[in-house]
Amino acid sequence: MNELVTYPWGSERRYNAFSSWFNSYFGERVQKVSLDAGFSCPNRDGTLGTGGCTYCNNDAFNPSYCSPDKSVTQQLDEGIPFHQRRYRRARRYLAYFQAYSNTYAGINRLKELYSEALAYPGIIGLVIGTRPDCVNENLLSYLAELNRNHFIIVEYGIESVNNKTLKRINRGHDFETAAKMVALTAERGIRTGAHFILGLPGESRQEIIDSASVISELPLNSVKLHQLQIFKGTEMAEEFLSDPHNFDLFSTSEYLDLVVAFIERLNPSIMIERISSEAPPRFLADPRLWDLRTDEFLRLFEDKLEEKNTWQGRLYNPKII
Ligand code: SF4
Repeated sequence: MNELVTYPWGSERRYNAFSSWFNSYFGERVQKVSLDAGFSCPNRDGTLGTGGCTYCNNDAFNPSYCSPDKSVTQQLDEGIPFHQRRYRRARRYLAYFQAYSNTYAGINRLKELYSEALAYPGIIGLVIGTRPDCVNENLLSYLAELNRNHFIIVEYGIESVNNKTLKRINRGHDFETAAKMVALTAERGIRTGAHFILGLPGESRQEIIDSASVISELPLNSVKLHQLQIFKGTEMAEEFLSDPHNFDLFSTSEYLDLVVAFIERLNPSIMIERISSEAPPRFLADPRLWDLRTDEFLRLFEDKLEEKNTWQGRLYNPKII
């Protein structure tokens, strides 16, 4: 029988699970409620470009009640009962500004939207998803102020640490910009998360695994990782359908091995919030590429860590400055 081990993050789970920390931090179920507050994105409105990132399809993640035509309050009126059907125990919520770039507006408009959410009964904080080039010091000072009495997370879409990849997927910003904004956000004591896609075109398996060491040097509280999903109607879908051989897509078991190798090299102090994602099959350019729910894949991941007797950070080498 395996002896139970407590890892540096204080649990027997073989990775530093954001969900374990989150549940013990609040002591009860706290549910995120997604919102679409009508933001755009500089990569779509012409400021940086009009096509957006080549894989972008926000509709694939928006719950049905989310609509920019409804106010924040209306979306919370509908979103809270929507989530209550699944999570009956939840009594407190975080407003999740999720669609597009949720800091892409003037500071007064942002204050109005965030305050409207925080004034709603049961909302105890905000999760704000955005691009690294859509945040400035003025906004961070305001968020740091909010952070004194509310739970605030800023979640940056970084996607890759390689500038050649960011260029290929038309992100419109480089990795250095992302690293700088993560540092400025964390410096102010604001919880800082980042999102990465493992398997973007042009990146080798080894490059992806090596990127764990680069990410480990960022002052991040948490990361969300996911497999590449190619959505219908995107530029990437066109690229993929015209030349599938140009894409090195991972099978489920290859992706599983990849995530394990990745987290073995990841700084154990960075919590992992997600390792895969799911979208309704009708959005996928080729639904055969991925058919697992996130909870099913998480179970495979935990079993694999057990089988290999490995854990997050086992091969992590802190940089000695
Ligand atoms: S930054 Fe986000 S919203 Fe903007 S184009 Fe890229 S994926 Fe889409």
